Amino acid sequence: MIASRLSVEDGADLYARASLPELGELAFAQRREMHPDGVVTYVIDRNINYTNVCVTGCTFCAFFRFPHETGGYVLPEATIHQKIRETLDIGGTGILIQGGLNPKLGLQYYVDLFSGIREAFPAIHIHGLSAEEIFFIAKISKKSFEEILRTLQSAGLRTLPGGGAEILVEDLRKEVNRSQCGVEDWFEIHRTAHRLGIRSTCTQVIGFEESVEDRLAHLERLRALQEETGGFTAFITWTYQPTGTRRGGRSVGATEYLKHLALCRIFLDNVPHIQSSWPTQGEKIGQLALFFGADDMGSVMIEENVVAAAGTIHTTTEKRLRELIAEAGFIPKKRTHLYEHIE
Ligand code: SF4
Repeated sequence: MIASRLSVEDGADLYARASLPELGELAFAQRREMHPDGVVTYVIDRNINYTNVCVTGCTFCAFFRFPHETGGYVLPEATIHQKIRETLDIGGTGILIQGGLNPKLGLQYYVDLFSGIREAFPAIHIHGLSAEEIFFIAKISKKSFEEILRTLQSAGLRTLPGGGAEILVEDLRKEVNRSQCGVEDWFEIHRTAHRLGIRSTCTQVIGFEESVEDRLAHLERLRALQEETGGFTAFITWTYQPTGTRRGGRSVGATEYLKHLALCRIFLDNVPHIQSSWPTQGEKIGQLALFFGADDMGSVMIEENVVAAAGTIHTTTEKRLRELIAEAGFIPKKRTHLYEHIE
């Protein structure tokens, strides 16, 4: 452990006492120490939501359809391949493939899907399936997390997105996330993935009326797993988008987002990269996030359906993303899903 590492109590105290500029200054200093080259990275990829059918019904989600409802879909393989072709055509390197917990799709569906993608597009990086999807596939296949992850890795899965975390504090999580994938399951799936050489991102959604201590307890668990495995490549936090959800309520404002982002950079001192959530915050706040601890602009977002179903989602082009980075005084660099610079 690092001697100066913040505890949950220290973090909560800092958050209460420090102003937005003060927190930004501390986070920026931490970011500069970790990334002194002044580079801000981004990736060109596409979100492919292969199905919106889901048995879960999370209260914050406006994307899913229950199996008995109209409007449910499973994308045909040809459509998925067409989306990948379009991604490659604009210089894309990967896909983020995620969907609902669809009881009609067993392990073999994913094996066929991933091996079909790998065969047709060997260069594309498959970043896919959140912990709750892995949990669900394991449950309906009656196999362990390790068996599922090993099988999917052999079929072409390269890295795991950190989605499905929401707020990793059991009582709060149960209230918003209706899947059976609990906090310990989420961590066990990521721990197992890291052991198998499948690196992952980690995430946090704020705005569920959680306390700062709850947020920090979540971050503390992420930091501890990173200490154990070193498998997280990046952390992404965004704000709950209430439109069209059963939960309703309000969205967290930009000041709170930036303050929280800065606290995350200071607290998560062993997770190398932090993304700006410009798709939920918009270009201006997304750019400002680079002074509050973020060193990565995430994806150009050719397509996004899940958060878009619950509010505004911003998309952009590579040119505009590079402009935003350069205007803020940083050096834009395209990267892979493993955060290697590719130019
Ligand atoms: S967030 Fe995921 S698991 Fe929850 S209802 Fe939406 S699609 Fe289903």
